[in-house]
Amino acid sequence: MKKLYVNIGTCIFCKRSEPEVTFRTRPHTIPQTMGGRKIGVDVCDECNHYFGTVDKQIQPHMAVETCVKEVLNVTQYLTEMPKAQQEGKELPYLKSIYFAIFQKEHVIRFKRAFASTPSFVRTYTRCFKRGLYEMFLQEFHRQTGRGLESRFDAIRRFARYNEGDIPVWHMQYNRIGLHFGMDESNGVTIPINDKALHDIEEYGMFTLIIRGFWFYLAVAPMPMTTYLAYLKQENDEMASGAIFRGVEWLDDIHQIDFTLSRFS
Ligand SMILES: [Zn+2]
Repeated sequence: MKKLYVNIGTCIFCKRSEPEVTFRTRPHTIPQTMGGRKIGVDVCDECNHYFGTVDKQIQPHMAVETCVKEVLNVTQYLTEMPKAQQEGKELPYLKSIYFAIFQKEHVIRFKRAFASTPSFVRTYTRCFKRGLYEMFLQEFHRQTGRGLESRFDAIRRFARYNEGDIPVWHMQYNRIGLHFGMDESNGVTIPINDKALHDIEEYGMFTLIIRGFWFYLAVAPMPMTTYLAYLKQENDEMASGAIFRGVEWLDDIHQIDFTLSRFS
């Protein structure tokens, strides 16, 4: 039988192959519920399952993909709201595990039960970052077939096994309600173009743009000064205009975006 989800035959997250693991489930490189339509390869069933499942080893328990999905979907919802209100439409109710949405005030907050749990925001932020790296590695591998290179070992440890830490930076906006650089009519993708390949070689950095958010990932090991040189370059290029305010180190999920900056 032809295997649809196998290219090299080794899982890009745990580096195991058949018969130790199986490759039967369709791995979406970006969760389907976030608008992802691309199917990845070389993600074993165990790893595929892991990212969408609540991890009981971490406190409080949560699933990596849920953390990414919720932030991006909820914020997307908030940015669509003014337009809907202008047109006199009401957006359908959005189910959220973690967030309470206050349509009128244009505000989202963590639900009280979570917000009052110690270490919740820290764990959430960490899961969110792990989810970004997970999506990167899957999309990178889908498009280049090179996801198994050893320079991505730190991503495997961090995203899949919750070991170590890899920084994430993000670009802050100046304006409210803006989604920049977004064409998701054909589904959400993370293009690995020539510039991206060059940035990874030269700086170990990748700019991940998703749902109008700009994130900077340190995908390959390089000295911190090299990462910072890349960020300075990006910052100088982008933040001089009216749209972006500048690159910021992400260590608390509350930092993300104008709308989220107002939640508590
Ligand atoms: Zn695996």
